[in-house]
Amino acid sequence: MLFDTHAHLNAEQFNEDLNEVMQRALEAGVSQIVVVGFDRPTITRAMELVEEHEFIYAAVGWHPVDAIDMTEEDLIWIEELAAHPKVVAIGETGLDYHWDKSPKDVQKEVFRKQIRLAKKVKLPIVIHNREATADIIDILKEEHAEEVGGIMHCFSGSAETAKECINMNFYISLGGPVTFKNARKPKEVAEEIPLDRLLIETDCPYLAPHPYRGKRNEPSYVKLVAEQIAELKGISYEEVAEATARNARKLFGMV
Ligand SMILES: [Zn+2]
Repeated sequence: MLFDTHAHLNAEQFNEDLNEVMQRALEAGVSQIVVVGFDRPTITRAMELVEEHEFIYAAVGWHPVDAIDMTEEDLIWIEELAAHPKVVAIGETGLDYHWDKSPKDVQKEVFRKQIRLAKKVKLPIVIHNREATADIIDILKEEHAEEVGGIMHCFSGSAETAKECINMNFYISLGGPVTFKNARKPKEVAEEIPLDRLLIETDCPYLAPHPYRGKRNEPSYVKLVAEQIAELKGISYEEVAEATARNARKLFGMV
């Protein structure tokens, strides 16, 4: 029972062999996957996948890198999709200061709009954070995002920052980087954060765990993330798999 809380099976990297990828996921013990859409084409594809596959759910939102492209119509469309029973979160949204396609003030406004939308439709928020931790925490606090909570996706910050996010009703999701030999911070987070606030994800096709680092990632590899967390915490793999899947179902309202 593994729950991959963040996958981009809607990416073109899976066009050729999606059925084989899904088969390997099922064989590895993956029972649920949230496919994340973050613009018109990827949201459209995510919604096709939830109709075609029982174990696929969707998150719908607008990526901060492309914030400058989001229109009012896009936001209304996302709100309409949020009523679908298999849409379980708003996102990914957040701030990305690594790329400068969208100015910071535009990113912040689009982020705030999506937090307000998530509160309106009562769905948790999937947060993308790149080099913007302080501003993200400020905005989450100002917008009272704790009312719906959500996920710090592919969390790469310190254990201290993770605890601050948990205090705002967010879960910490770890992906492939926790398996990298030089990844000190994700390993500390895995050790220090209580199991009842942890989630696992692949963020596939990106960020494949060791020993697939640099290759295309896929949901079956989420097992390697769970195994690494188990080793760091000194508990069984089954315990990590069960707890993280239970946390995800609770957050997404599947219980
Ligand atoms: Zn993503």
